[in-house]
Amino acid sequence: MNVLENKTALVTGGSRGIGRAIALALAAAGADVAFTYKSASSAAQETEKGITAAGRRTQSYQSDASSFGDASNVVESVVREFGRVDILVNNAGITRDTLLMRMSEQDWDEVIDTNLKSAFNFSKAACRPMMSQREGVIVNISSIAGVIGNPGQTNYAAAKAGMIGMTKTLAKELASRNIRVNAVAPGFIETDMTGKLTQQQKDALLGLVPLKRMGTPDDIAHVVVFLSSPAAAYITGQVLCVDGGLVM
Ligand code: NAP
Repeated sequence: MNVLENKTALVTGGSRGIGRAIALALAAAGADVAFTYKSASSAAQETEKGITAAGRRTQSYQSDASSFGDASNVVESVVREFGRVDILVNNAGITRDTLLMRMSEQDWDEVIDTNLKSAFNFSKAACRPMMSQREGVIVNISSIAGVIGNPGQTNYAAAKAGMIGMTKTLAKELASRNIRVNAVAPGFIETDMTGKLTQQQKDALLGLVPLKRMGTPDDIAHVVVFLSSPAAAYITGQVLCVDGGLVM
């Protein structure tokens, strides 16, 4: 069932990992999908192929999500090419993990700019066309680190908690225009990002997960499709932890 037929989605950081799974799942649900990435052009081509194979239109943009000007150019281009933007998924993110004692100003700034300012950049640019359409959905990919904290991630947890505050505020600001804003807080998901962890770190983390496995990018993508669909028409301002039961 193509619940997102005739919809256009924009996913930041759609070349790899969770962003790619989201882009493909939105396409499988019937949406045309534009997406951004920072540098991995060959990975971006793979995502494009997957969207095209699902019979949907796509366009990728090599663009730094932390740049305000780039974000507004991308959104303008999506509206020009596709005619509208119905779904925005703020997914682009990085880690620069270390204890606060050792964290550099650059580690802090890069993570805040890429993970939090990017969501401001794209939400501000996309809410204008959504307001004129009187319809839209924004899904912010936060993290359980933003809900419960995580040693070694002061920068990342602050950015992800910031996204949650932004989600609730924007949900209140935009509800009267029929724009819903929600956040998904993934737990430990198998991607390049968690590939950096040692086996010992992974085992320790898995010990905290009641469902006793890491999540897959598809576990997150299915929830994003649901939140983007009419089935979630009465849900806004929520944070959904998708984490195998880690946070409860
Ligand atoms: P990933 O595999 O490292 O992929 C990150 C994606 O973001 C890539 O497409 C990358 O593009 C893009 N990106 C990074 N910096 C960017 C920038 N400045 N501008 C535009 N795109 C940029 O990460 P992931 O695990 O899929 O994570 C996706 C999101 O989920 C992130 O926000 C992350 O914080 C969140 N999350 C992940 C986990 C987890 O366990 N994996 C848990 C909680 C939350 P390039 O390919 O060009 O580098």
